[in-house]
Amino acid sequence: MIYVNGKWSKGEGKKRPVINPANEEIIIEINEASQQQAVEAIQAARHAFQYTDWPFNPAKRIAALRQLADLLEQNAETFASIETLNTGKPIRESRLDVSDSIQCLRYYADFVEQRAIEEIKRTDGTTSKIIEEPIGVCALIVPWNFPLLLGIWKLAPALAAGNTVVFKPSELTPLSFIELTKLIDSIGLPPGVFNLVPGGGSPVGETLVTHPDVEKISFTGGTKTGRWIYEQGARRLKRVSLELGGKSPLLIFDDADLASTIEWALFASFFNQGEVCVAASRILVQRRVYDSFLDQLTQRLASLRIGDPFAEHTEMGPLISSSHLEKVETYIQIGLQEGGVLLQGGKRMKELGYYLTPAVFAHVRQDMRIVQEEIFGPVITVQPFEHDEEAIKLANDTIYGLAAGLFSRDLERAEQIAGKLRAGTIWINSYHTPYVDAPWGGLKQSGIGRELGPQGFAAFTETKHVNISQHGKPLGWYSSHS
Ligand code: NAD
Repeated sequence: MIYVNGKWSKGEGKKRPVINPANEEIIIEINEASQQQAVEAIQAARHAFQYTDWPFNPAKRIAALRQLADLLEQNAETFASIETLNTGKPIRESRLDVSDSIQCLRYYADFVEQRAIEEIKRTDGTTSKIIEEPIGVCALIVPWNFPLLLGIWKLAPALAAGNTVVFKPSELTPLSFIELTKLIDSIGLPPGVFNLVPGGGSPVGETLVTHPDVEKISFTGGTKTGRWIYEQGARRLKRVSLELGGKSPLLIFDDADLASTIEWALFASFFNQGEVCVAASRILVQRRVYDSFLDQLTQRLASLRIGDPFAEHTEMGPLISSSHLEKVETYIQIGLQEGGVLLQGGKRMKELGYYLTPAVFAHVRQDMRIVQEEIFGPVITVQPFEHDEEAIKLANDTIYGLAAGLFSRDLERAEQIAGKLRAGTIWINSYHTPYVDAPWGGLKQSGIGRELGPQGFAAFTETKHVNISQHGKPLGWYSSHS
Protein backbone atom coordinates (compact mmCIF):
# COMPACT_ATOMS: atom_id res chain seq x y z
CA MET A 1 0.00 0.00 0.00
CA ILE A 2 1.51 3.24 -1.05
CA TYR A 3 0.09 6.74 -1.33
CA VAL A 4 1.65 8.90 -4.03
CA ASN A 5 0.36 12.07 -5.67
CA GLY A 6 -2.98 11.84 -3.87
CA LYS A 7 -3.69 8.24 -4.92
CA TRP A 8 -3.45 4.83 -3.28
CA SER A 9 -1.83 2.03 -5.21
CA LYS A 10 -0.33 -1.39 -4.66
CA GLY A 11 3.30 -1.42 -3.62
CA GLU A 12 5.52 -3.19 -6.09
CA GLY A 13 8.38 -3.81 -3.67
CA LYS A 14 8.77 -6.45 -1.02
CA LYS A 15 5.74 -8.18 0.49
CA ARG A 16 6.30 -8.09 4.24
CA PRO A 17 4.22 -9.53 7.09
CA VAL A 18 3.45 -7.14 9.92
CA ILE A 19 3.65 -9.07 13.20
CA ASN A 20 1.75 -8.62 16.46
CA PRO A 21 4.60 -8.82 19.00
CA ALA A 22 2.23 -9.93 21.77
CA ASN A 23 1.31 -13.24 20.07
CA GLU A 24 3.57 -13.43 16.97
CA GLU A 25 0.56 -13.59 14.63
CA ILE A 26 0.63 -11.93 11.23
CA ILE A 27 -1.69 -8.93 11.38
CA ILE A 28 -1.50 -8.16 7.66
CA GLU A 29 0.93 -8.43 4.78
CA ILE A 30 2.07 -5.15 3.31
CA ASN A 31 3.14 -4.63 -0.28
CA GLU A 32 5.94 -2.14 0.22
CA ALA A 33 7.07 0.53 -2.21
CA SER A 34 9.63 -0.35 -4.85
CA GLN A 35 12.62 1.86 -5.52
CA GLN A 36 10.87 3.24 -8.60
CA GLN A 37 7.76 4.06 -6.55
CA ALA A 38 9.91 5.86 -3.98
CA VAL A 39 11.32 7.97 -6.82
CA GLU A 40 7.79 8.66 -8.08
CA ALA A 41 6.83 9.83 -4.61
CA ILE A 42 9.77 12.25 -4.57
CA GLN A 43 8.81 13.53 -8.02
CA ALA A 44 5.20 14.04 -6.91
CA ALA A 45 6.41 15.98 -3.87
CA ARG A 46 8.76 18.08 -6.03
CA HIS A 47 5.92 18.87 -8.47
CA ALA A 48 3.58 19.87 -5.64
CA PHE A 49 6.25 22.11 -4.15
CA GLN A 50 6.88 23.89 -7.46
CA TYR A 51 3.42 24.08 -8.97
CA THR A 52 0.85 24.39 -6.18
CA ASP A 53 0.15 27.27 -3.81
CA TRP A 54 0.96 25.06 -0.77
CA PRO A 55 4.29 26.75 0.10
CA PHE A 56 2.69 30.23 -0.15
CA ASN A 57 -0.67 29.60 1.49
CA PRO A 58 -0.31 29.43 5.28
CA ALA A 59 -4.08 29.69 5.80
CA LYS A 60 -4.60 26.49 3.84
CA ARG A 61 -1.90 24.74 5.86
CA ILE A 62 -3.28 25.90 9.21
CA ALA A 63 -6.75 24.68 8.26
CA ALA A 64 -5.37 21.32 7.10
CA LEU A 65 -3.42 20.71 10.32
CA ARG A 66 -6.45 21.61 12.45
CA GLN A 67 -8.70 19.36 10.40
CA LEU A 68 -6.26 16.50 10.74
CA ALA A 69 -6.05 17.05 14.51
CA ASP A 70 -9.86 16.99 14.78
CA LEU A 71 -10.11 13.79 12.74
CA LEU A 72 -7.41 12.13 14.80
CA GLU A 73 -9.26 13.14 17.96
CA GLN A 74 -12.52 11.67 16.64
CA ASN A 75 -10.71 8.41 15.89
CA ALA A 76 -8.37 8.44 18.88
CA GLU A 77 -9.31 5.02 20.27
CA THR A 78 -8.89 3.37 16.85
CA PHE A 79 -5.41 4.82 16.53
CA ALA A 80 -4.47 3.79 20.06
CA SER A 81 -5.60 0.23 19.32
CA ILE A 82 -3.67 0.06 16.06
CA GLU A 83 -0.54 1.31 17.80
CA THR A 84 -0.83 -1.26 20.58
CA LEU A 85 -1.56 -4.07 18.12
CA ASN A 86 1.49 -3.23 16.04
CA THR A 87 4.04 -2.27 18.73
CA GLY A 88 2.89 -4.21 21.80
CA LYS A 89 2.97 -1.09 23.97
CA PRO A 90 0.35 -0.96 26.75
CA ILE A 91 -2.89 0.60 25.55
CA ARG A 92 -2.76 3.45 28.07
CA GLU A 93 0.64 4.44 26.63
CA SER A 94 -0.77 4.38 23.08
CA ARG A 95 -3.54 6.71 24.20
CA LEU A 96 -0.92 9.14 25.45
CA ASP A 97 0.86 8.97 22.08
CA VAL A 98 -2.35 9.80 20.25
CA SER A 99 -3.25 12.74 22.47
CA ASP A 100 0.32 14.11 22.24
CA SER A 101 0.08 13.79 18.43
CA ILE A 102 -3.15 15.80 18.36
CA GLN A 103 -1.56 18.47 20.54
CA CYS A 104 1.46 18.66 18.26
CA LEU A 105 -0.66 19.21 15.13
CA ARG A 106 -2.55 22.01 16.88
CA TYR A 107 0.60 23.58 18.28
CA TYR A 108 2.18 24.00 14.85
CA ALA A 109 -1.09 25.30 13.34
CA ASP A 110 -1.16 27.97 16.07
CA PHE A 111 2.55 28.59 15.65
CA VAL A 112 2.19 29.46 11.96
CA GLU A 113 -0.89 31.57 12.64
CA GLN A 114 0.90 33.67 15.24
CA ARG A 115 4.19 34.00 13.40
CA ALA A 116 5.14 37.45 12.16
CA ILE A 117 7.80 38.40 9.65
CA GLU A 118 10.66 40.13 11.41
CA GLU A 119 11.34 43.64 10.05
CA ILE A 120 14.37 45.83 10.67
CA LYS A 121 14.02 49.52 9.73
CA ARG A 122 17.45 50.94 8.97
CA THR A 123 18.98 54.38 9.17
CA ASP A 124 19.99 54.11 5.48
CA GLY A 125 16.28 54.19 4.63
CA THR A 126 15.99 50.50 3.78
CA THR A 127 13.94 47.84 5.47
CA SER A 128 15.11 44.28 6.00
CA LYS A 129 12.56 41.51 6.10
CA ILE A 130 13.66 38.19 7.59
CA ILE A 131 11.49 35.52 6.07
CA GLU A 132 11.26 31.85 7.00
CA GLU A 133 10.52 29.79 3.91
CA PRO A 134 9.96 26.08 3.40
CA ILE A 135 12.97 24.06 2.26
CA GLY A 136 11.31 21.89 -0.38
CA VAL A 137 10.87 18.12 -0.51
CA CYS A 138 11.42 16.58 2.91
CA ALA A 139 12.06 12.90 3.54
CA LEU A 140 10.72 11.92 6.95
CA ILE A 141 12.05 8.60 8.26
CA VAL A 142 10.96 7.21 11.63
CA PRO A 143 11.57 4.14 13.85
CA TRP A 144 9.19 1.60 15.38
CA ASN A 145 9.00 2.61 19.04
CA PHE A 146 6.57 5.56 18.70
CA PRO A 147 5.42 5.16 15.07
CA LEU A 148 2.61 7.70 15.17
CA LEU A 149 3.97 10.27 17.63
CA LEU A 150 7.49 10.55 16.21
CA GLY A 151 5.99 10.75 12.72
CA ILE A 152 3.75 13.63 13.76
CA TRP A 153 6.67 15.44 15.43
CA LYS A 154 8.12 15.70 11.92
CA LEU A 155 5.01 15.89 9.79
CA ALA A 156 3.31 18.74 11.67
CA PRO A 157 6.18 21.27 11.45
CA ALA A 158 7.18 20.12 7.93
CA LEU A 159 3.68 20.78 6.58
CA ALA A 160 3.12 23.86 8.74
CA ALA A 161 6.22 25.45 7.19
CA GLY A 162 4.98 24.74 3.64
CA ASN A 163 7.18 21.81 2.64
CA THR A 164 6.06 18.74 0.77
CA VAL A 165 6.73 15.35 2.26
CA VAL A 166 7.68 11.78 1.49
CA PHE A 167 7.12 9.73 4.62
CA LYS A 168 8.69 6.37 5.41
CA PRO A 169 7.50 4.51 8.50
CA SER A 170 9.52 1.67 10.00
CA GLU A 171 9.02 -1.57 8.11
CA LEU A 172 8.00 -3.14 11.45
CA THR A 173 5.27 -0.63 12.29
CA PRO A 174 3.61 0.92 9.23
CA LEU A 175 -0.01 0.51 10.37
CA SER A 176 -0.78 3.74 12.23
CA PHE A 177 0.64 5.92 9.47
CA ILE A 178 -1.29 4.00 6.81
CA GLU A 179 -4.41 4.77 8.85
CA LEU A 180 -3.35 8.40 9.26
CA THR A 181 -2.84 8.67 5.51
CA LYS A 182 -6.53 7.77 5.06
CA LEU A 183 -7.39 10.82 7.18
CA ILE A 184 -4.93 12.98 5.25
CA ASP A 185 -6.49 11.77 1.99
CA SER A 186 -9.95 12.74 3.24
CA ILE A 187 -8.98 16.37 3.93
CA GLY A 188 -7.92 16.89 0.32
CA LEU A 189 -4.40 18.34 0.36
CA PRO A 190 -3.04 19.25 -3.08
CA PRO A 191 -1.84 15.95 -4.64
CA GLY A 192 1.84 15.30 -3.93
CA VAL A 193 2.02 17.39 -0.74
CA PHE A 194 2.02 14.21 1.34
CA ASN A 195 3.26 10.84 0.10
CA LEU A 196 3.60 7.58 2.01
CA VAL A 197 6.11 4.91 0.99
CA PRO A 198 6.24 1.96 3.41
CA GLY A 199 9.41 -0.08 3.09
CA GLY A 200 12.74 -0.99 4.61
CA GLY A 201 15.99 0.94 4.87
CA SER A 202 16.90 -0.56 1.53
CA PRO A 203 15.74 0.29 -1.04
CA VAL A 204 13.13 2.82 0.12
CA GLY A 205 15.01 4.65 2.89
CA GLU A 206 18.25 4.78 0.90
CA THR A 207 16.44 6.13 -2.15
CA LEU A 208 14.93 8.96 -0.12
CA VAL A 209 18.29 9.81 1.44
CA THR A 210 20.30 9.83 -1.78
CA HIS A 211 17.86 11.30 -4.31
CA PRO A 212 18.94 14.79 -5.46
CA ASP A 213 15.40 16.20 -5.32
CA VAL A 214 15.11 15.57 -1.57
CA GLU A 215 16.42 18.71 0.10
CA LYS A 216 15.80 17.88 3.73
CA ILE A 217 16.10 14.60 5.60
CA SER A 218 14.60 14.37 9.04
CA PHE A 219 15.54 11.06 10.60
CA THR A 220 14.86 9.38 13.92
CA GLY A 221 16.54 6.06 14.55
CA GLY A 222 19.79 4.38 15.43
CA THR A 223 23.11 6.25 15.65
CA LYS A 224 24.75 3.95 13.07
CA THR A 225 22.02 4.61 10.49
CA GLY A 226 22.06 8.30 11.33
CA ARG A 227 25.79 8.53 10.73
CA TRP A 228 25.39 6.95 7.27
CA ILE A 229 22.54 9.33 6.43
CA TYR A 230 24.61 12.33 7.52
CA GLU A 231 27.46 11.22 5.23
CA GLN A 232 25.10 10.82 2.29
CA GLY A 233 23.48 14.18 2.98
CA ALA A 234 26.89 15.87 3.05
CA ARG A 235 27.51 14.93 -0.58
CA ARG A 236 24.78 17.31 -1.70
CA LEU A 237 24.81 19.57 1.34
CA LYS A 238 21.30 18.49 2.20
CA ARG A 239 19.68 19.80 5.35
CA VAL A 240 19.78 16.90 7.83
CA SER A 241 18.20 16.53 11.26
CA LEU A 242 19.04 13.47 13.33
CA GLU A 243 17.34 12.18 16.48
CA LEU A 244 19.46 9.21 17.52
CA GLY A 245 20.23 6.89 20.37
CA GLY A 246 20.91 7.47 24.03
CA LYS A 247 22.19 5.98 27.27
CA SER A 248 20.52 8.37 29.64
CA PRO A 249 21.39 8.55 33.32
CA LEU A 250 18.99 9.04 36.22
CA LEU A 251 20.75 10.56 39.25
CA ILE A 252 19.26 9.96 42.66
CA PHE A 253 20.68 12.04 45.48
CA ASP A 254 20.41 11.02 49.12
CA ASP A 255 18.10 13.88 50.02
CA ALA A 256 15.41 12.75 47.55
CA ASP A 257 12.17 11.17 48.76
CA LEU A 258 12.98 7.51 48.18
CA ALA A 259 9.46 6.14 47.83
CA SER A 260 8.57 8.52 45.03
CA THR A 261 11.91 8.08 43.25
CA ILE A 262 11.24 4.33 43.03
CA GLU A 263 8.06 4.98 41.07
CA TRP A 264 9.80 7.57 38.91
CA ALA A 265 12.69 5.21 38.25
CA LEU A 266 10.29 2.50 37.04
CA PHE A 267 8.61 5.01 34.77
CA ALA A 268 11.91 6.45 33.52
CA SER A 269 13.45 3.06 32.76
CA PHE A 270 10.63 0.73 31.76
CA PHE A 271 8.00 2.90 30.10
CA ASN A 272 7.39 1.45 26.61
CA GLN A 273 9.44 -1.65 27.63
CA GLY A 274 12.50 0.58 27.85
CA GLU A 275 12.31 0.95 24.08
CA VAL A 276 12.59 4.70 24.36
CA CYS A 277 15.48 6.79 23.10
CA VAL A 278 15.56 8.74 26.38
CA ALA A 279 14.95 5.72 28.65
CA ALA A 280 16.90 6.02 31.88
CA SER A 281 19.05 2.97 31.30
CA ARG A 282 21.70 3.95 33.86
CA ILE A 283 20.61 4.70 37.39
CA LEU A 284 23.18 6.43 39.58
CA VAL A 285 22.36 6.42 43.29
CA GLN A 286 24.14 8.21 46.09
CA ARG A 287 25.90 5.68 48.31
CA ARG A 288 23.93 6.37 51.53
CA VAL A 289 20.63 5.31 49.93
CA TYR A 290 22.01 2.87 47.34
CA ASP A 291 21.14 -0.40 49.14
CA SER A 292 17.65 0.61 50.16
CA PHE A 293 16.99 2.00 46.68
CA LEU A 294 18.03 -1.30 45.08
CA ASP A 295 15.97 -3.36 47.55
CA GLN A 296 12.83 -1.35 46.95
CA LEU A 297 13.31 -1.15 43.20
CA THR A 298 13.78 -4.90 42.74
CA GLN A 299 10.84 -5.65 45.04
CA ARG A 300 8.55 -3.38 43.09
CA LEU A 301 9.82 -4.71 39.73
CA ALA A 302 9.06 -8.29 40.73
CA SER A 303 5.36 -7.40 40.81
CA LEU A 304 5.30 -5.38 37.59
CA ARG A 305 2.25 -6.31 35.54
CA ILE A 306 3.66 -7.63 32.29
CA GLY A 307 1.32 -9.11 29.73
CA ASP A 308 -1.53 -8.43 27.31
CA PRO A 309 -0.93 -4.87 26.11
CA PHE A 310 -4.67 -4.39 25.60
CA ALA A 311 -5.42 -5.04 29.28
CA GLU A 312 -6.01 -1.73 31.04
CA HIS A 313 -3.79 -2.54 34.02
CA THR A 314 -0.77 -3.80 32.02
CA GLU A 315 2.44 -1.95 32.86
CA MET A 316 4.77 -3.54 30.32
CA GLY A 317 4.19 -5.29 27.00
CA PRO A 318 6.38 -7.40 24.72
CA LEU A 319 9.45 -6.15 22.87
CA ILE A 320 9.00 -5.25 19.22
CA SER A 321 10.39 -8.31 17.41
CA SER A 322 12.15 -11.63 17.84
CA SER A 323 15.42 -10.22 16.51
CA HIS A 324 15.25 -7.28 18.90
CA LEU A 325 14.49 -9.65 21.79
CA GLU A 326 17.58 -11.66 20.81
CA LYS A 327 19.68 -8.49 20.66
CA VAL A 328 18.58 -7.52 24.17
CA GLU A 329 19.27 -11.04 25.46
CA THR A 330 22.72 -10.93 23.90
CA TYR A 331 23.44 -7.78 25.91
CA ILE A 332 22.36 -9.58 29.08
CA GLN A 333 24.89 -12.32 28.29
CA ILE A 334 27.54 -9.69 27.57
CA GLY A 335 26.79 -8.05 30.92
CA LEU A 336 27.24 -11.36 32.74
CA GLN A 337 30.44 -12.16 30.86
CA GLU A 338 31.80 -8.74 31.74
CA GLY A 339 31.24 -9.52 35.42
CA GLY A 340 28.05 -7.56 36.08
CA VAL A 341 25.64 -9.04 38.64
CA LEU A 342 22.14 -9.63 37.30
CA LEU A 343 19.96 -9.01 40.34
CA GLN A 344 16.80 -10.02 38.60
CA GLY A 345 14.95 -10.34 35.29
CA GLY A 346 16.19 -10.85 31.78
CA LYS A 347 14.06 -14.00 31.32
CA ARG A 348 11.62 -14.84 28.56
CA MET A 349 8.12 -15.08 29.92
CA LYS A 350 5.75 -16.75 27.54
CA GLU A 351 5.86 -19.25 24.72
CA LEU A 352 4.33 -16.78 22.33
CA GLY A 353 5.11 -13.08 22.23
CA TYR A 354 8.44 -11.31 22.69
CA TYR A 355 8.17 -10.85 26.44
CA LEU A 356 11.18 -10.30 28.68
CA THR A 357 11.21 -9.60 32.40
CA PRO A 358 12.91 -6.31 33.32
CA ALA A 359 16.58 -6.80 34.06
CA VAL A 360 18.63 -5.02 36.73
CA PHE A 361 22.42 -5.17 36.76
CA ALA A 362 24.52 -4.07 39.72
CA HIS A 363 28.28 -4.18 40.42
CA VAL A 364 29.08 -2.84 36.97
CA ARG A 365 32.11 -0.87 35.83
CA GLN A 366 31.90 2.27 33.75
CA ASP A 367 33.83 0.68 30.87
CA MET A 368 31.45 -2.26 30.47
CA ARG A 369 29.48 -2.46 27.23
CA ILE A 370 26.18 -2.67 29.14
CA VAL A 371 27.02 0.71 30.69
CA GLN A 372 28.28 2.33 27.49
CA GLU A 373 26.07 0.98 24.68
CA GLU A 374 22.39 1.51 23.97
CA ILE A 375 20.44 -1.71 24.59
CA PHE A 376 17.01 -0.23 23.86
CA GLY A 377 15.04 -2.59 26.06
CA PRO A 378 14.12 -3.28 29.70
CA VAL A 379 17.69 -3.57 30.98
CA ILE A 380 19.23 -1.13 33.46
CA THR A 381 22.45 -0.78 35.36
CA VAL A 382 22.51 0.68 38.87
CA GLN A 383 25.74 2.29 40.12
CA PRO A 384 26.58 4.02 43.39
CA PHE A 385 28.30 7.41 43.66
CA GLU A 386 29.74 9.32 46.59
CA HIS A 387 29.42 13.02 45.74
CA ASP A 388 28.11 15.44 43.11
CA GLU A 389 31.29 15.60 41.03
CA GLU A 390 31.48 11.82 40.73
CA ALA A 391 27.81 11.65 39.72
CA ILE A 392 28.36 14.24 37.00
CA LYS A 393 31.48 12.46 35.72
CA LEU A 394 29.72 9.09 35.49
CA ALA A 395 26.60 10.63 33.97
CA ASN A 396 28.55 12.32 31.18
CA ASP A 397 30.86 9.44 30.42
CA THR A 398 29.27 7.90 27.29
CA ILE A 399 29.20 8.92 23.63
CA TYR A 400 25.55 9.92 24.02
CA GLY A 401 23.90 13.08 25.31
CA LEU A 402 20.18 12.77 24.84
CA ALA A 403 18.58 13.14 28.26
CA ALA A 404 19.13 12.93 32.00
CA GLY A 405 17.02 13.04 35.13
CA LEU A 406 17.90 13.97 38.67
CA PHE A 407 16.10 13.69 41.95
CA SER A 408 16.91 15.92 44.91
CA ARG A 409 14.95 18.12 47.31
CA ASP A 410 17.57 20.83 46.92
CA LEU A 411 16.51 22.57 43.72
CA GLU A 412 19.40 25.00 43.72
CA ARG A 413 21.89 22.13 43.83
CA ALA A 414 19.85 20.22 41.23
CA GLU A 415 19.92 23.14 38.79
CA GLN A 416 23.63 23.55 39.28
CA ILE A 417 24.20 19.90 38.49
CA ALA A 418 21.82 20.10 35.49
CA GLY A 419 24.05 22.85 34.15
CA LYS A 420 26.98 20.42 34.12
CA LEU A 421 25.18 17.47 32.54
CA ARG A 422 25.78 17.03 28.82
CA ALA A 423 22.25 16.20 27.65
CA GLY A 424 19.64 17.83 25.44
CA THR A 425 16.77 17.35 27.91
CA ILE A 426 17.08 17.29 31.68
CA TRP A 427 14.22 16.59 34.02
CA ILE A 428 14.53 17.59 37.67
CA ASN A 429 12.27 15.52 39.97
CA SER A 430 10.44 14.28 36.89
CA TYR A 431 11.08 12.25 33.75
CA HIS A 432 9.98 11.45 30.21
CA THR A 433 7.32 14.07 29.47
CA PRO A 434 7.97 15.82 26.17
CA TYR A 435 6.47 19.30 25.99
CA VAL A 436 5.35 20.29 22.53
CA ASP A 437 6.63 23.86 22.91
CA ALA A 438 10.08 22.90 24.26
CA PRO A 439 12.94 21.53 22.14
CA TRP A 440 13.83 17.82 22.07
CA GLY A 441 17.10 16.39 20.81
CA GLY A 442 20.57 15.26 21.60
CA LEU A 443 24.08 16.47 22.25
CA LYS A 444 27.18 14.51 21.23
CA GLN A 445 26.35 11.37 19.22
CA SER A 446 22.66 11.50 20.12
CA GLY A 447 21.85 13.74 17.19
CA ILE A 448 21.93 16.96 15.27
CA GLY A 449 19.23 19.61 15.61
CA ARG A 450 16.04 19.72 17.64
CA GLU A 451 12.41 18.71 17.25
CA LEU A 452 9.35 20.32 18.87
CA GLY A 453 8.98 23.94 19.85
CA PRO A 454 10.11 26.83 17.63
CA GLN A 455 13.40 24.97 16.98
CA GLY A 456 11.45 22.04 15.52
CA PHE A 457 9.78 24.46 13.11
CA ALA A 458 13.05 26.15 12.20
CA ALA A 459 14.43 22.74 11.23
CA PHE A 460 12.02 22.76 8.29
CA THR A 461 12.74 26.28 7.07
CA GLU A 462 15.36 28.29 5.24
CA THR A 463 15.91 31.89 6.26
CA LYS A 464 15.78 34.55 3.56
CA HIS A 465 16.75 38.18 3.95
CA VAL A 466 14.95 40.64 1.66
CA ASN A 467 16.30 44.19 1.83
CA ILE A 468 13.94 46.86 0.44
CA SER A 469 14.85 50.40 -0.54
CA GLN A 470 11.83 52.70 -1.09
CA HIS A 471 13.57 55.16 -3.36
CA GLY A 472 16.42 53.29 -5.14
CA LYS A 473 18.47 56.51 -5.30
CA PRO A 474 22.08 55.95 -6.51
CA LEU A 475 24.65 55.68 -3.74
CA GLY A 476 27.01 58.00 -5.55
CA TRP A 477 29.80 55.43 -5.23
CA TYR A 478 30.77 55.62 -8.92
CA SER A 479 29.67 59.22 -9.54
CA SER A 480 33.24 60.71 -9.60
CA HIS A 481 33.66 59.69 -13.30
CA SER A 482 30.61 61.66 -14.53
P1 NAD B 1 17.00 2.15 12.63
O1 NAD B 1 18.07 3.16 12.50
O2 NAD B 1 17.31 0.75 12.33
O3 NAD B 1 15.76 2.53 11.70
C1 NAD B 1 15.08 3.75 11.78
C2 NAD B 1 14.40 4.03 10.46
O4 NAD B 1 15.41 4.18 9.47
C3 NAD B 1 13.50 2.90 9.95
O5 NAD B 1 12.41 3.46 9.28
C4 NAD B 1 14.41 2.16 8.98
O6 NAD B 1 13.71 1.47 7.97
C5 NAD B 1 15.18 3.32 8.39
N1 NAD B 1 16.47 2.97 7.80
C6 NAD B 1 17.30 1.95 8.14
N2 NAD B 1 18.41 1.99 7.36
C7 NAD B 1 18.29 3.06 6.54
C8 NAD B 1 19.09 3.63 5.52
N3 NAD B 1 20.27 3.08 5.18
N4 NAD B 1 18.66 4.72 4.88
C9 NAD B 1 17.48 5.29 5.20
N5 NAD B 1 16.65 4.79 6.15
C10 NAD B 1 17.05 3.69 6.82
O7 NAD B 1 16.45 2.32 14.10
P2 NAD B 1 15.27 1.49 14.80
O8 NAD B 1 15.83 0.17 15.23
O9 NAD B 1 14.04 1.51 13.97
O10 NAD B 1 14.97 2.41 16.07
C11 NAD B 1 15.69 2.34 17.25
C12 NAD B 1 16.66 3.50 17.36
O11 NAD B 1 15.98 4.73 17.23
C13 NAD B 1 17.33 3.56 18.71
O12 NAD B 1 18.71 3.76 18.55
C14 NAD B 1 16.71 4.77 19.38
O13 NAD B 1 17.50 5.38 20.35
C15 NAD B 1 16.43 5.66 18.22
N6 NAD B 1 15.40 6.64 18.57
C16 NAD B 1 15.76 7.95 18.80
C17 NAD B 1 14.79 8.89 19.19
C18 NAD B 1 15.15 10.33 19.47
O14 NAD B 1 14.24 11.15 19.58
N7 NAD B 1 16.42 10.69 19.61
C19 NAD B 1 13.46 8.49 19.31
C20 NAD B 1 13.15 7.16 19.08
C21 NAD B 1 14.12 6.24 18.70
